[in-house]
Amino acid sequence: MIKVYNTLTRKLEEFNPINKGKIHWYHCGVTVYSRSHLGHARNLIAFDTIRRYLEYRGYEVRYVQNFTDVDDKMIVRANEEGVSIIELAEKNIQDYYEDLDRLNVKRPSLAPRALLHINHMIKDIQSLIEKGYAYVADNGDVYFDVRKWKEYGKLSKQKLENILEHTEDTENPNKRFPADFALWKAKKEGEPSWPSPWGEGRPGWHIECSTMSMTYLGETFDIHSGGQDLIFPHHENEIAQSESLTGKPFARYWLHNGFVKIDAEKMSKSIGNIININSILKSYSPDSVRLYTLLTHYRQPIDFTEEGLKQAEVTAERLFNTIVLLKSFANDEEESSVITEEDKTMIQSIEDARNKFIEAMDEDFNTSNALAAVFEISKDVNDYLRKVEKINSMVVSKANELFDEFRLVLGLFSDIDQYISIDKVKNLVNLLIDLRQEFRKSKNWEKSDRIRDTLKDSGIILEDNPKRVLWKIVAK
Ligand SMILES: [Zn+2]
Repeated sequence: MIKVYNTLTRKLEEFNPINKGKIHWYHCGVTVYSRSHLGHARNLIAFDTIRRYLEYRGYEVRYVQNFTDVDDKMIVRANEEGVSIIELAEKNIQDYYEDLDRLNVKRPSLAPRALLHINHMIKDIQSLIEKGYAYVADNGDVYFDVRKWKEYGKLSKQKLENILEHTEDTENPNKRFPADFALWKAKKEGEPSWPSPWGEGRPGWHIECSTMSMTYLGETFDIHSGGQDLIFPHHENEIAQSESLTGKPFARYWLHNGFVKIDAEKMSKSIGNIININSILKSYSPDSVRLYTLLTHYRQPIDFTEEGLKQAEVTAERLFNTIVLLKSFANDEEESSVITEEDKTMIQSIEDARNKFIEAMDEDFNTSNALAAVFEISKDVNDYLRKVEKINSMVVSKANELFDEFRLVLGLFSDIDQYISIDKVKNLVNLLIDLRQEFRKSKNWEKSDRIRDTLKDSGIILEDNPKRVLWKIVAK
């Protein structure tokens, strides 16, 4: 049974989607005005892994993630660069997918763009006005009337008076109440605008997510996710708009990931410690960034440090080597009719590792504990391959199966197969190892070393163990 922590109830809840076996999920995507940074990476990797796990557990997941391509930041940046917001969006969406693919984050099932849904948003705003939840100001702005929606504050657990204290925009004479938020903004000089029943203008930010999520997932859907910073006001406002519009519950489970720090400082423009995904990937492999991210539970804050990333690089390489090693034994013709005590213990350990992994992930997707199980079995497998008298092919195939599952869920080492088109080279390498052993027996060190060195130059490292010579193909 999968349990998720629901921000809406502040409780760990049993996860049950509306339609058995199917999950409808909306994730708040990025505003495409600049390249994505480590904060986005954390958010993407965390929810990608949750999505992968739910798929691993047999769910069919419809994952909708929007692109915000019309808002203040877009307009400012497009003006700075002297391009239209469409051009700006186009370029950044391409970069975004490049980062996403490199981090092995699965692309959304659907990625709707705000610009293409303006008419639909206008329709929703019109309905909110008709139902009495929104009003048109004299200047042509349209606002949501938060005092009309009695449940306002239910996600962020705030009372209206607390919200008022945090409202920045108190001087706006067009609002009836300071906490009201804009559904539609009347045209300003130098801004793109669209026609509406209230004059030229553009949508406010929050309405796009209500409109697009309900368009593609239905009025009530299963999961809504995003960064913690979106809980208020963005997600609070989404709930207010959507539920007052339909009279039905909006999203059932609200999932939010923790903050990102860089060297113990909160990532911010003012400190200037924003690191882009493409620049971190110049120094660290995507696998080490993924692994580092997953070592922390998604709801906890994460601190990216140089030291931590270096350590993750080492850990990732070690894990990678284990998997490559295991793969090099796959489909070996060795007899497995005899099962020793050591084999039995190993098979049991493999089963236990899978159970621990699932147990950890079932508990609100605790990747930190799940990885502990991965590291433990990785160590056992290494010991087994080096120490047992005869390697049992059933053990190898079970272990390979397990690590394939781990890789799939954690999104790690997706390119491993390029290192392991091993079947083709395997016989050749084994032949060379046999030859080298013969040379060694006859103390022909020159020839045996030549074989070792030539293999090394080709990226194949031999490791001499008392029981057998192991070999691996080195990454990079
Ligand atoms: Zn959103």
